[in-house]
Amino acid sequence: MEKQNQKITPTGNLQSSLTSVVLPARNEAASIATAVDTISGVLDSCSPNWEIVVVDDGSDDQTYERLLELAGQDSRVRAIRFSRNFGKEAAILAGLQHAKGDTVITMDADLQHPPELIPEMLRCWAEGAKVVNAVKRSRTSDGIIARFRANVFNQLMSSLGGIDMHDASDFKLLDRVVVDQISAALPERERFYRGLTDWVGYSSTTLPFDVNTRVGGEGKWSILKLAELALTALVSFTSAPLRIVTLLGIATLILGFFIGADALLSWARGRAVSGFATVVITLLLIGSFVMISLGIMGEYIAKIYEEVKRRPTFIVEATTDDDD
Ligand code: UDP
Ligand code: MG
Repeated sequence: MEKQNQKITPTGNLQSSLTSVVLPARNEAASIATAVDTISGVLDSCSPNWEIVVVDDGSDDQTYERLLELAGQDSRVRAIRFSRNFGKEAAILAGLQHAKGDTVITMDADLQHPPELIPEMLRCWAEGAKVVNAVKRSRTSDGIIARFRANVFNQLMSSLGGIDMHDASDFKLLDRVVVDQISAALPERERFYRGLTDWVGYSSTTLPFDVNTRVGGEGKWSILKLAELALTALVSFTSAPLRIVTLLGIATLILGFFIGADALLSWARGRAVSGFATVVITLLLIGSFVMISLGIMGEYIAKIYEEVKRRPTFIVEATTDDDD
C-alpha cells in the first residue's frame, strides 16, 4: 500500500454527514446486541447522524430476531436478511448497496475489529481520504495455524495477484463515490472486497489496529471456505496462473528436446535405449503437468460460467426498511 499518507485535500464535513456502518453477520445471535450497542456508543460520540446496517447472512440461529428487537428500539439500526447463506462477500455487497451514508464503514459483527478506531477513520476521511484501510498490527489472538494460513494466502496474492494483501482486513471506511463505484458500477458477481477497494483507486490511508478476540459465538471460516475465497481472489484478479501453464509447457518442451536428442544419439550408436524407470517418471510428470494445467483452465472457465449466468450475488428475504 504505497498510496498511504499522501497529500490530501479536505472535503468531508463530519457534523453534517451521515455515517453508515455495515456489519455482515452469520449466526451472531449471542453477540450482535453487544456489538450494535458498542458501535452505536462510539458513533454517538462522533455525531448523531449514523445508521448501522446489519446483513444477516442466512443465520440458523436467532440473529434476525435479535436484529428486529434492536431495530425496534432504535430506527437507526436497519437489518437485511438473506434467503440463505451467500457468504461474507455477498453480505458486504448487500450492506454497501443498502447503506445511505456519505461514508460507509465495513467491519465484522463479532467486535474483532475495534470500534474505537471509527473516530480516527472519520477524521482521516474528513481530511480527504476516500478509502481508509484498517490494517492488522498483530495477529496474536489468532492461533499459529490461522496465522500460517493467512500468511500463505497473502503471499500467494501478492506474488500472483500483484496486490499487497499483507495484514489487510475487511475493516474499512469508504467515501460515497467509492461505494457507488464498488456497489453499482462493477458488474461482476463474484467479488473480493479487499482487492476491489484497492483496484478502484482513489486516495487512501492506512490505520493500524490490533485484532480483538471474539466476544461470542465462534469463527466461521473452514479451510475449504478460505481456499474458495483464495481461488476467487486469484482468478478474479489475475491471469498469472494461466501463464504458469504456458511456462510449464515450455519447460516440458525443453526437457523433451534433450531427452529426445539423447535417445536418438544412443539409437544411432547402435545402443538400445534403456531406462524403463525414466519413461515411467517422464510420463507421470508430464501427465500431472497436463492435469494441473487443465485444472487451472477449468477454474477460469468455471468463473466465466458463473459470471455469464448473471445470477444475483444474493437474495434478500426480508428487511426492516419500510420503503422496500
Ligand atoms: N460472516 C458472514 N457470512 C459467512 C461467514 C462469516 O457474514 O458465511 C461474518 C461473520 O458473522 C463475522 C464476519 O463475517 O461478522 C467474520 O467472520 P468470522 O469472525 O467467522 O471470521 P474471522 O474473524 O475468523 O475472519
Ligand atoms: Mg471474527
